[in-house]
Amino acid sequence: MAVKRDYYEVLGVRRDASQDELKRAFRHLAMQHHPDRNPDDPQATERFKEINEAYAVLSDPEKRRSYDMFGHAGVAAGAGPGGFSGFEGFGFGDIFETFFGGGFGPRPSRRQTRGDDLRYDLTISFEEAYRGTEREIEIPRLVTCERCSGSGAEPGTGLETCSTCGGTGQVRRQSQSIFGSVVNIQTCPTCQGAGRVLQHPCRDCHGQGRRERRQRLQVTIPPGVDTGTQIRLAGEGEAGFRGGPGGDLFIVIRVKPHPVLRREDQDVFYELRINMIQAALGDRIEVPTVDGPVEIAIPPGTQYGQTFRLPGRGMPSVRGGRRGDQFVVVQVVVPRNLTPEQQELLRRVGGLTGQPEKVSKGFFERLKEAINLD
Ligand SMILES: [Zn+2]
Ligand SMILES: [Zn+2]
Repeated sequence: MAVKRDYYEVLGVRRDASQDELKRAFRHLAMQHHPDRNPDDPQATERFKEINEAYAVLSDPEKRRSYDMFGHAGVAAGAGPGGFSGFEGFGFGDIFETFFGGGFGPRPSRRQTRGDDLRYDLTISFEEAYRGTEREIEIPRLVTCERCSGSGAEPGTGLETCSTCGGTGQVRRQSQSIFGSVVNIQTCPTCQGAGRVLQHPCRDCHGQGRRERRQRLQVTIPPGVDTGTQIRLAGEGEAGFRGGPGGDLFIVIRVKPHPVLRREDQDVFYELRINMIQAALGDRIEVPTVDGPVEIAIPPGTQYGQTFRLPGRGMPSVRGGRRGDQFVVVQVVVPRNLTPEQQELLRRVGGLTGQPEKVSKGFFERLKEAINLD
């Protein structure tokens, strides 16, 4: 199965591209790769389909959000419009709707500035990364002003033509110089070029359309996140200026290390210490896994560095799909401080086997070998 390309890459746009930018990129590419225009190129149809698919997802705010968080898995066939079953439980939609009245708010005009993105660092435990978790976080941020619903105007009032510039957004300044009279054209300082001013600025937000608040947010961390995973909550950043679209909130995850398990991508490694006798004769030993203890059988003659694989006992994937594996790497511990009788016993055993010791390699070298051989 071919690996799907990243939708943003397909359209050649940045991840924060606006709807307009997406549309422009799509139109351009769709024209270029239309099969009718490329009758001799058998791959044109495929490319055209790919472009269409990418645009279908990214032009839909709901699907785009899901895609941003979970990649292709988030918008897989069957998820269906409004479905996105894996996504609904997250409840971002509700919060988003409450503040922005549904959708992505009015199209930004030149007076509507998008709010800033926010970053929140969240530390969770290894177990929480494995199971996923719900966290309530509190963030200070600019939110849409309730009184004016973000317009910046007192309820019942609106915008009026700027008296300084007469609605043109520019002012002409005449000054005298040694060359005579000079006219400078500047952006109007009263309306900042908008041509219209608030009749009565909202008394709660002083015309900003937003106010600073400490807000609590419920965040759902999906199972499988790792240190560095970013969860993007579209529109949960700072509110825009005067009803402009909100910025995004990025939750950046840090996972605390586990006392005995070590994670690498979705696989988990555990170093099992056994003694010489266990290694020589074999044993049944309980080892910790993310799911709890599991008993494994160590066969007789187990060597230092030998690795046992517990399939599907690793970490889940944020994007769905199969879990990683756990690798149990054996370390044979050589006894110290033996009594004279024990020493004598071992001498006799050593005399019986008479096997030469192999050249010792580093632990990780052996580990790598063991995994590659698997
Ligand atoms: Zn207000
Ligand atoms: Zn003006």
